[in-house]
Amino acid sequence: MDTIFDLRNISYSYVGKINALKDISLKINRGEQVSIIGTNGSGKSTLLAILNGLIYPTSGEFYAFDNQITEDVFDAITDNEFRSYFRTKVGFVFQNSDVQLFSPTVYEEIAFGPLQLDVPPKEVKRRVEDVLEIMGITKLRDRSPHTLSGGEKKKVCIATVLVNNPEVLLLDEPTAGLDPRTQLWLVELLQELGRSGKTVITATHDLETIEQISKRAVVMGEDHGVKIDGDTVKVLDDMALLLSVNLIHEHMHIHGKAVHEHLHAHGKEHAHQHMN
Ligand code: ADP
Ligand code: MG
Repeated sequence: MDTIFDLRNISYSYVGKINALKDISLKINRGEQVSIIGTNGSGKSTLLAILNGLIYPTSGEFYAFDNQITEDVFDAITDNEFRSYFRTKVGFVFQNSDVQLFSPTVYEEIAFGPLQLDVPPKEVKRRVEDVLEIMGITKLRDRSPHTLSGGEKKKVCIATVLVNNPEVLLLDEPTAGLDPRTQLWLVELLQELGRSGKTVITATHDLETIEQISKRAVVMGEDHGVKIDGDTVKVLDDMALLLSVNLIHEHMHIHGKAVHEHLHAHGKEHAHQHMN
């Protein structure tokens, strides 16, 4: 298979002392859908930032599209053909939409990327209109992104990425904070992107959605290393593993697609609560 990302023994620490990734080795093939799961602080966002060439490993090597990504070949100052190639191929959806949005209108927000990449204005207009339509946000085109709801902002952020038609999408906790209907819409969009051949890498601790959006799950432990990298269904069945990385607690269990939680009401019978 065609490897697009190859991480070899990557470690990362912030300011040289806060460990965020420990000895990560993994390969991601073209067209795969992969979930990166782990508790808060396990290193998911840091891993995505490495994959997006925003930061560079403290040790180890990162190859993307057969090129090693280092600070020297990848800084934004020098004109760099590979860097431009990488930027058109890889799209990143940040966890916090507000850091991604800066234009006066939704239309300009979505047009910004392709204009930066020197796409002719007529073509930009066509693409922006297409993506507004696909995302169901045409009526928001003249709105100021900062005045939108959380779900609307997320749609605009995804639109700013899809308008460049990237081959790889990196999403950091995309369902967090969305209402159930918007979450479902997003899951369906990710499934559709997967079917159309995109490589989709999603960081999440939302166990409900990973089976729907990925065949493969990479589990990050609290020690910032990869605990297991395998079939999503098997990972979800591995209670001991999920407990060990604190993704579930002992009163939860998973069957089928639902996560159930036994709430211990003191001295009373167990309440049985469906979380989906
Ligand atoms: P996750 O996305 O899984 O919650 P992160 O990748 O954000 O995990 O964080 C991994 C570790 O790195 C955590 O201990 C976190 O506190 C630390 N960290 C993350 N970002 C920074 C930063 N900008 N400066 C210092 N430490 C950071
Ligand atoms: Mg994170």
